[in-house]
This record gives sequence, C-alpha cells and structure tokens, in this order.
Amino acid sequence: MPVELITVPCLSDNYAFLVHDADSGQTALIDAPEAAPIQAALHSHGWTLTDILITHHHDDHVQGLEALRGTARVIGARADSHRLPRLDVAVEDGDTIQVCGRDVAIMDASGHTVGHIAFHMPSEKLLFTADSLMAMGCGRLFEGTPAQMWDNMQKLRALPRDTIVCSGHEYTMTNARFALSLEPDNKAIISRIEAIRTARENGHATVPSLLSLECDTNPFLRADDPVLAQAVNMADAKPAEIFTEIRSRKDRF
Ligand code: ZN
Ligand code: FE
Repeated sequence: MPVELITVPCLSDNYAFLVHDADSGQTALIDAPEAAPIQAALHSHGWTLTDILITHHHDDHVQGLEALRGTARVIGARADSHRLPRLDVAVEDGDTIQVCGRDVAIMDASGHTVGHIAFHMPSEKLLFTADSLMAMGCGRLFEGTPAQMWDNMQKLRALPRDTIVCSGHEYTMTNARFALSLEPDNKAIISRIEAIRTARENGHATVPSLLSLECDTNPFLRADDPVLAQAVNMADAKPAEIFTEIRSRKDRF
C-alpha cells in the first residue's frame, strides 16, 4: 500500500505535510509551522505522530513543534542542531533513515539557510523541499550563496521527473508572475499560470507540484536553458551567473 499524503495549510501561507502508512500505523509530519491545524488533521484521520521531520530552523517551520512532539521522534540537520528544537535523530546529507517503513534520503538543500535539508522518499516519489525548491520558485537566499543554491537545484532536478515536490509555501502565483516577466511569451508558463489561477479561485493549494512541471516552468531550475539565457540577455554567461542574476531580479520583483 502506498503512503497517504496530506497537505496541511498553516499560518497565512505555509504548508506542512503528513505522511501515513496504513500497514504500520506510523505517521510522519514534515515541518511544524502551527500546531492547531496539524492536530485537527491528525484527529480527523485518527492518526498519532511517530516522526517529525524538520527542514530548517526558521520559526514558520518549527514553532508548532513542542505542542506536537508527544512521543514522536524529531529528526533534523546535525549542522543546525544548535538552533533547532531538541532533536532525537541528527542527520546530514547522504544519510538514509526509516520513516513510515520507507527509506528517506537526506539531501543538503542549503541556500535559503545553510543547513536546510530536503527529504526524499524514493519509493513514494515524494520530495519535501520546504524553502529550497518551491513551486515555480526557490527560497530567498538569507544565508547561502546563489552558486550553492544552483548546485542544489541541479541535484534536486536530477531526481525522477515524476517526483512530487512538497514545498513549504503558497507563493506560486507570485513566483509565476516573476517567471512570466522574464519570458512573456513562454507558453508553458502561460498555461501554468492559468492552472494556478483556477486552483486558487477554487480554494485549492498549488503545492505539491510535479518535478517535470518544475523543470519546464521554474526559472530557478532552468539557469542553463539557452532559451532563458537569451530572454535575460545573458546568452554567453555561465549558468551560475544566470541563476545569480535571476535570483537578484526576484528579490527586487
Ligand atoms: Zn524559511
Ligand atoms: Fe518558510
């Protein structure tokens, strides 16, 4: 039986995720922005948390944790253990842990913060990226460098194209408008904007999204695409330079 994935809207625009394995009865939470909506989702399904996975130290990803902890095992980056809530398991890039009876690979996804990690559950094609790779965007670079974020974007986009990207915020429409500002004639972006608008008008989340769609429409995964390079008048520049330029344009957008 595949796991069940629930997207839980929290705060004004955060997402937490619940993963449940019916066979073992185990339930994992990815990020803890706010306890109440997560408790409500757990209650309505009759689930009890067995694991809490933390992507990075920002308040809007951890502040609900203590109210949810109970007997759950809390997993986060060893590199950030000094600024995360108390961890039961400290992990680093390349580690594999067992969650809901499945392998979960730990991937460094630094850039937004240094120490930000992503969780990849290959058997279920699930990737939890929080504020690294986001739907049509990537997190603002508070701590890391553009080159570091670009390296990590390349690592994430190399996963199977049917991977489901579970990112941390409902920023998709703003990200899409920015993507369109770079390439006003890009048909893939135009049609994705239509889909985003329809989803939002109907009160639906635009997260998670498919990695294949991100590879086609997310400018931060396309810094080595000659079409995007041309669009930003940087045809002769290196991908890392193009990534740096579009990330700084986004900061000013
Ligand atoms: Zn953050
Ligand atoms: Fe965040």
